[in-house]
Amino acid sequence: MITLKSKREIDLLKKAGNIVYLTHQYLRPFIKPGIKTIELDKLAEKFIKDHGATPSFKGYEGFPYTLCISINDEVVHGFPSERILEEGDIISIDIGACYKGYHGDSAWTYAVGKISEDDKYLLEHTEKALYEGIKQAKVGNRIGDISYAIENYANKHNLGVVKELVGHGVGTKVHEAPDVPNYGTKETGPKIRDGMVIAIEPMLTFGKPDIYILDNDWTVVTEDSSNAAHYEHTIAITNDGVEILTGE
Ligand code: MG
Ligand code: MG
Repeated sequence: MITLKSKREIDLLKKAGNIVYLTHQYLRPFIKPGIKTIELDKLAEKFIKDHGATPSFKGYEGFPYTLCISINDEVVHGFPSERILEEGDIISIDIGACYKGYHGDSAWTYAVGKISEDDKYLLEHTEKALYEGIKQAKVGNRIGDISYAIENYANKHNLGVVKELVGHGVGTKVHEAPDVPNYGTKETGPKIRDGMVIAIEPMLTFGKPDIYILDNDWTVVTEDSSNAAHYEHTIAITNDGVEILTGE
């Protein structure tokens, strides 16, 4: 069931989203060659708690960490670890925070030092695909309009669209209805209504879109070992327009 949010609820979701945004900004200067990804996780957990929130993912269906940290050919749901970031890596960090019972969810892919031209292309166009999706998020459109815009943009730029994982509604649960796939057909799917809050999150690959899951039962990696990027915002759609809750 899709729940529509009141003004009061959207204000709380905005607060949660802002904490997620601030956590991303806080981590940014630490994303350098030489840091262990578990250190980023610890920094983020403390930062979120210091802001009166709790990490949304820690304990979610047994996920053991605050952050999902996915490096290079890892698409999503990577575990923070003793792994040390190296010059030229790309690292996707997915952050969720819960404030007074309401969640925010946002992922970003960062360059570690100097990265290849191919990786720059992947990052630039995955981020742009997210904004192509956001442009279609308006009252009266359908979810399929968002999905189509992302897939169409990715196809035009020869990037693979991971289909097994999708965007979602956000509210008192971090994952709610509706699903927001990164592929689909215009004018299909649920109607977008005043008060809908959703996370849009393209996961694009430089090669084929096929994936598999590592033995830890979480980490999703590309089958052909091509690099992947992941950009995600939580947004609120009302009759006044769209508002990015996890942005500036
Ligand atoms: Mg999400
Ligand atoms: Mg996320």
